[in-house]
Amino acid sequence: MASEAKGVLVGANGLRTVSGVDKPAAMTRLGVMGGTFDPIHYGHLVAAESARESFGLDRILFVPAGQPPHKAEVPVTAAEHRYAMTLLATASNPRFDVSRIELDRPGPSYTVDTITALRELHGPEAEIFFVTGADAIMEIFSWNRSDALLESCQFIAVTRPGTSARRLQEWVARLEQGHGRRFHRVAVPGVAISSTDIRQRVRDGRPIRYLVPEAVEVYIQKHRLYARA
Ligand code: NAP
Repeated sequence: MASEAKGVLVGANGLRTVSGVDKPAAMTRLGVMGGTFDPIHYGHLVAAESARESFGLDRILFVPAGQPPHKAEVPVTAAEHRYAMTLLATASNPRFDVSRIELDRPGPSYTVDTITALRELHGPEAEIFFVTGADAIMEIFSWNRSDALLESCQFIAVTRPGTSARRLQEWVARLEQGHGRRFHRVAVPGVAISSTDIRQRVRDGRPIRYLVPEAVEVYIQKHRLYARA
C-alpha cells in the first residue's frame, strides 16, 4: 500500500515517486546523472528523461566521471571522448546539460566531492537527486565518505531489464529508515541497452544504430573508438 505526504508517494517497498505538483516554485530540483558513459546510449537518455518527469526535476546535469574511482584497473576511454559524446547525445534537449566538473578536478572522481561542489553552486535550498544505475548505487556504502554523501542528496536508482528490481527493493528495505527514505527508483523496462554491449558490438563489427544517437555513432566511427586494434 502506498502512503502520500507532501506530494511524495511512498510505496510498500519504501521506494518513492513524487507527483511534482506541490513543490515550491522557487526551489531548484536538480538531477545529477552520474556515469562513466563509455559510451552514452539511449538507455541513459530515457532514464534521465524519465527521472526528470517522474520527480518533477527542473534540469538534468550529466556528469561524466573523469577518473571512475572503482575502475582504476579497467581500461576506460579517454574522458574527453566520453564528455564529447555526452554533449552530442544531450544537445537537443533544453533541460539537459553536461558538466566538466569531474574532468577538470584532478584525482579519482568521488561523487561526494561532486555533490558538495554542486551544493555550493546551487545553495542549501536546492534539492539534488543523484541518478545512476541501480547496480552502482547498491555499492554506495563502499564509496568515498559514504556517510557524508548519504546526507548530501537524494538518490534515484535506474533499473532496466537485467537489473534486479527485487534485489534493489530488498536492499532498500535493509537500510535504516533515515537512509531508506533518500532512495528512489526509476524503471526503464523496455530499454535493455548497455555500454558494455555497445563496445562489444563495435569490436565485432556489428551495428549500433538506434542504440545510440546518430551523432554518437558517427563520433565513435570517426575516432575509431572500441574497434579492434
Ligand atoms: P558502472 O559500474 O559502470 O555501472 C553499473 C551499472 O549501472 C551498469 O549496468 C551501467 O550501465 C549502469 N549505469 C551507470 N550509470 C548509469 C546512469 N547514469 N543511468 C543508468 N544506468 C547507469 O557505474 P559507473 O558508470 O562507473 O558509476 C556510476 C556513477 O557512480 C558514476 O557517477 C561514478 O562516478 C559513481 N561512483 C562513485 C564512486 C565513489 O564516489 N567512490 C564509486 C563508484 C561509482 P552502462 O554501462 O550501460 O552505463
